[in-house]
Amino acid sequence: MSRFEQLKQQLDKQQRKWLVTGVAGFIGSNLLEALLKLNQQVVGLDNFATGHQKNLDEVQGLVSDQQWQNFQMIEGDIRDVETCKNAVSGVQHVLHQAALGSVPRSLNDPATTNEVNISGFLNMLIAAREQQVESFVYAASSSTYGDHPALPKVEENIGNPLSPYAVTKYVNELYADVFARSYGFHATGLRYFNVFGRRQDPDGAYAAVIPKWTAAMTKNDKVAINGDGETSRDFCYIDNVVQANLLASTTLLGGSEVFNVAVGDRTTLNELFSAIKNALQQQDIDYSAEPVYQDFRAGDVRHSQADIGKAKSLLGYEPQYRIAEGISLTMPWYVQNV
Ligand code: NAD
Repeated sequence: MSRFEQLKQQLDKQQRKWLVTGVAGFIGSNLLEALLKLNQQVVGLDNFATGHQKNLDEVQGLVSDQQWQNFQMIEGDIRDVETCKNAVSGVQHVLHQAALGSVPRSLNDPATTNEVNISGFLNMLIAAREQQVESFVYAASSSTYGDHPALPKVEENIGNPLSPYAVTKYVNELYADVFARSYGFHATGLRYFNVFGRRQDPDGAYAAVIPKWTAAMTKNDKVAINGDGETSRDFCYIDNVVQANLLASTTLLGGSEVFNVAVGDRTTLNELFSAIKNALQQQDIDYSAEPVYQDFRAGDVRHSQADIGKAKSLLGYEPQYRIAEGISLTMPWYVQNV
């Protein structure tokens, strides 16, 4: 039996209290769903900056009434340290997901990204340390690899950040390190690589590529590819990310550690376009238009692919879904919800 299966059995027998920040967002709401289904107690914190009540409503519909009773929602902002302290009170495990995502958003408004992603992060560290939580796991990012040319990416070799967003995610890691060295506080960063799946927002200027294209293709709109389409990414299905969070929260590591969370594959944007088109065909949606190629986007790295060896060996992480399976599992949700 895998370490993750063992863990799920253990958790099912022993209720623990978790805080999920960014709970109304894409990744946060999926963590909430998984934890409630394992009969865990969950406090959620979100200011609905980019998250939605409808994500929480959907989770409510997917769990039992009894499991939903285990959820307490706090509407609040991580830029306020008292809000963070209140949310962390009595909690054993923190899954800190709240942040302003998107490289282009950070280029347009670096100051707000900085306040939320750095000051907000620091507030959460202060609150979690004061409360002496058992684990603090936070959403780091593959953008921290910046311009480092090596592939696949290994945790210790990073380059220069290419966007304000990347700076903020790297500073999170630096603060986590300093809290470990100065106060003996343990924190674990998960460097997510292009996560996708149900409830990822398809709307707005800062939508991620898979929901954006899927929504366009579903409505028979044009799909624009930034650059020549040979830019590549290690796309990671949401259930792999949930697995990594639960394993990282329950593995005794000590100090401050970061892990790549991905699959270890590399898919180009041209291949992604075909994969989504094929998966939509299985949902009886035929998209016949060709993509439109436009300029490369500022701040984007050209290629990204993770070495997931560290997460495998230290956390027992075994991604269960590769991109094609993830896309097939995701499409019915978009067809129903877009
Ligand atoms: P998301 O935008 O769907 O979720 C972020 C949530 O944080 C939202 O619900 C938002 O309302 C909340 N939030 C924002 N500012 C807040 C504040 N000041 N106070 C309280 N809540 C606030 O994005 P996501 O894709 O679910 O990302 C979750 C985390 O994972 C983020 O930290 C992001 O940087 C990181 N990440 C995501 C990816 C990805 O591919 N989705 C990749 C790397 C890292």
